[in-house]
Formats: sequence, structure tokens, C-alpha cells
Amino acid sequence: MKITKVETFQVDWSGEGLPGGQDRPAGRKGPRSAFVRIETDDGMFGMGEASPMQGGLASLVIIAQDMAPALIGADPLDHAILLDTLMHKCIKLGPEGAMTGALAALDTALWDLKGKALGQPIYKLLGGAWRKQMPCYASIGGNAWRTVDEVLAVVERRVEKEKPAAVKIRWDGDRTKQDVDIVGDIRKAAAVRKLLGDDFVLGFDANNGYSIGGATRVGRALEDLGYTWFEEPVQHYHISAMGEVAQRLDITVSAGEQTYTLQGLKDLINAGVRMVQPDITKMGGITGLMQCAAIAHAHGVELVPHQTQPSLGHLANLHVLSTLIHLSKPVELADGWERAGAIFENPSEPKNGLFTVPDAPGLGAVFDQSELQRRSVPISI
Ligand code: CA
Repeated sequence: MKITKVETFQVDWSGEGLPGGQDRPAGRKGPRSAFVRIETDDGMFGMGEASPMQGGLASLVIIAQDMAPALIGADPLDHAILLDTLMHKCIKLGPEGAMTGALAALDTALWDLKGKALGQPIYKLLGGAWRKQMPCYASIGGNAWRTVDEVLAVVERRVEKEKPAAVKIRWDGDRTKQDVDIVGDIRKAAAVRKLLGDDFVLGFDANNGYSIGGATRVGRALEDLGYTWFEEPVQHYHISAMGEVAQRLDITVSAGEQTYTLQGLKDLINAGVRMVQPDITKMGGITGLMQCAAIAHAHGVELVPHQTQPSLGHLANLHVLSTLIHLSKPVELADGWERAGAIFENPSEPKNGLFTVPDAPGLGAVFDQSELQRRSVPISI
């Protein structure tokens, strides 16, 4: 089996039928996803997804220009060697961010292809599923910009619709500012606690919005309110500050969605973070997330992947999570997930709060080809 073609394209989610759109602040562009499709000489294909930051365009350009030529003619079953070679070839383009997102997309596409070639779902190739169904948590963004009443209205709507096992309220504030409204933030957190009751599992995602002092103050309030985890309280690049906050507070502090290497993950754990959140579309794909799982397991640290894409990244994430012996938190279900229904015959939606990992070979995605075609924006160099 030889690779004959590597295609890169965005999927444009704007236009009609975009139920996630109503959660976006006015003026912000509609989201795009970044996909790669790898074809072989026996007519099979595998699909993968890169992190969609800025539409994932930079990752797709790196694939098209710097990676695809080296893959043509290669055996896709050599994929770990191919990707490690490409990472070291392209290391000065990163290694963090766009370049690791490119590798993540290729890795997932090659696992999809491998599963199809062997007639097995990916979770089987990883060692088998401990569970085929996993509860979701509602990850609700944009709360820095809402009033208390608006926060409560969105939370109520999502809980009723999705029946999640937990809720995480995300701030998504202005990244150039710190400690903007600590009193108001605590007020919103308290209102959500009151709305959902004492037993509901809650997370609070600061999206890097606080100083160490601000984070400590908010974290103490979250402890009093019975929140379960406090996500990215300070800037992700201040690893020692993240660790300091984690060690000062009793609430579990989580981080790692902006970690792009195994070495970065190790540094976060060494600093004191005890719940890590690598994203399968940002670092290493399926292979990378399995490696992160091994590191977390070896340290006794919770692995709770960040995953905000409702399509291929989500499916890849489900396959990995199904195989892990310990799954301490539900699976992230972010804003606007309904849009994936447009391109799949079998969209992975929560049913009664549960996701089910597909049994079909590879990722198990079945596309509505005409809709996928209609929304595709080719990226070629
Ligand atoms: Ca987050």
C-alpha cells in the first residue's frame, strides 16, 4: 500500500444551518475546520483534523508545502517513522502550534487509513475499549461578555438540551488583560452553582485571565462553591506560575490545551499541575494523545483532553478515551457542536448525555459527500 495523494482543505461552517452561531459575539467570523485526506493506491482514504485556530490555515499550508511531498509513495503503515522524520525536518517551523497541528492531522488520517486497511475501529488497534459510551460535559464559552442572567440562560438551555454529566463555564475574555472583573466572575460562578444545585459537577475555565494573586482569590471562592476544577487560571506560557497556583489551591487546577510537546506536558506536571488537557488536534494526534496518557498515568495525573471540534478531532478523541483504564471526567462538548451534523451521515451527538464510539473501521465517520464538498475550501500550494 502506497500513499498517492494528500489533500488539504478547510470546511466552512458559515451559512445556513449553523446552530452554534448564536453563541458567538457579534462581528466574529464563522468557524472553519482544517482537514487532511490521504489516499492510497488501493483506493482507500484516511481523514484527519488539525487545530482550527485561525481556521487551521497555517497547519494546512505546512502539510501541503512541507510534508505532503515526502509522504507520496510511502507506506502508510510506516506512519510513526514518517511523522517523526517530518517533525525533525520541520522543527524550525515550530515545533509548537501550527507544525504540531499539521502532524496531528496527518497522524489521525493515517490511523483512520490503518483501521480501514485492517477492517478494525481504531480503538481495537489501540488495545480495546474499556467502555463504548462516555458521558459528556457541556463546555460553555463566552461568559466574560455576558451578564449574570445571560450566563444562567445559556447554562440552563445547554443543560436541558444536552443532559451533561458536568458543566464548565468558560470566560473567553480579552487575552491582553488580567483580573478584569474578579468580583463579577465569582458572582457568575455562584449563580451557576445556585441554578444547578449543590451536587452538580462544575468546572471554571479562566482562559488564562488572572494573575497569580487573582487566580488564588478566584480559586478560593470556587473551593467554597464546590467547583471540581479550575482551568488555565494564568497564562499558559507561565508554567511555573500555573504550577504555583495549582500548589497553593486545594481545587484541582488543570492546564495543557496549549501544550504541544510531550516535554511541555512533563514540565507542566513537574510544576504541580495534576489534571492535564492536551488536545488531539494540536499535538501528535492519536499517537500523541496515547503518549500523553502514558505520561499522565505514570505520574498519577488526570488526563482530561481538551477537544472543542465536533467532527474528526472529536471522533479521534473518543477512540483514545475509550481505551484508557481511568477516565475521571466526562468528555468535552463545546459550543456549536450541532454544525457537524451537516457533513456526517452519522454525526457523533450525545444521546441522553452519552457519546458512543463508532464500531466501523478507522474513525468510523460516514460523510454526506455532497455537503462536505459544498463546504470544502481547498488549500493548495
Ligand atoms: Ca480551556
